[in-house]
Amino acid sequence: MSNSEILMELRNVTHGYSLRSGSTLKVIENLNIQVRYGEFLGIVGPSGCGKSTILRIMAGLVKPLSGVVIFRGEVLNGTTPRISLMHQVPTLLPWLTVRENIYLALMSRKDLTERAKQLKVSELLELVELSGYESAYPYELSGGMRQRVALARALVTDPDLLLLDEPFSNLDPLTSLSLIRELEGMWFDTTLPPISIVMVSHNIEEVVMLADRVVVLGGRPAKILAEVPIELSRPRNKKSEEFYRLVDELFSLIS
Ligand code: ADP
Ligand code: MG
Repeated sequence: MSNSEILMELRNVTHGYSLRSGSTLKVIENLNIQVRYGEFLGIVGPSGCGKSTILRIMAGLVKPLSGVVIFRGEVLNGTTPRISLMHQVPTLLPWLTVRENIYLALMSRKDLTERAKQLKVSELLELVELSGYESAYPYELSGGMRQRVALARALVTDPDLLLLDEPFSNLDPLTSLSLIRELEGMWFDTTLPPISIVMVSHNIEEVVMLADRVVVLGGRPAKILAEVPIELSRPRNKKSEEFYRLVDELFSLIS
């Protein structure tokens, strides 16, 4: 693969956390992950294996103990509007409306006029089908709707890379399926950002639903156990034999 095909790369990334005892808990070790242009990359692994840690490193929120993150050919140093992270639990501000929560992501941008910002927010509200709820407060929304607001806020900056941390894990199965379908629809529309998506999850089915390629993590510190391409046509059918076969294959790799 040539470098021009890679949007982001983790090179020999090791990270861990200091424990109260003074020692360090190594969570991931010598991890090499490439995110290609136009790719939907899934990362699966058991809870606690370091998936959120990897996303925080990819977002530039956390500097790894060693190794580097290369984004668009340059070393990533801190956060950038070009990379958006959607957290596992939507972190909306309770005292702001839906519209204001999304607007917040654009507030400090000097390259956009006030009108352009408001238009952009309206566009995103429509995209996530929340136009009628722009004046609502987070507590008035269901879990699925809150997740949609968080998605709109992550996308409003037109990021090149969208990082999703277990985006459906706190939703009921029906809501999560409808959100998966929406995300897939957006992903198909190539006129929309982002260029690439990385989604981490402990739920193998939702990753097989969406990803072009899956990286399987395991062990402590976590290492890459396997990389599996998902070549099913879209929209994917959960009930098809090939779907089951891939879910099975990934399960046995993890367990
Ligand atoms: P996952 O997202 O796969 O569940 P995390 O990346 O959240 O895993 O966490 C990996 C490991 O690191 C876990 O054992 C967790 O307890 C530990 N950990 C995560 N964040 C911190 C932190 N800020 N301080 C100390 N330990 C942490
Ligand atoms: Mg996590």
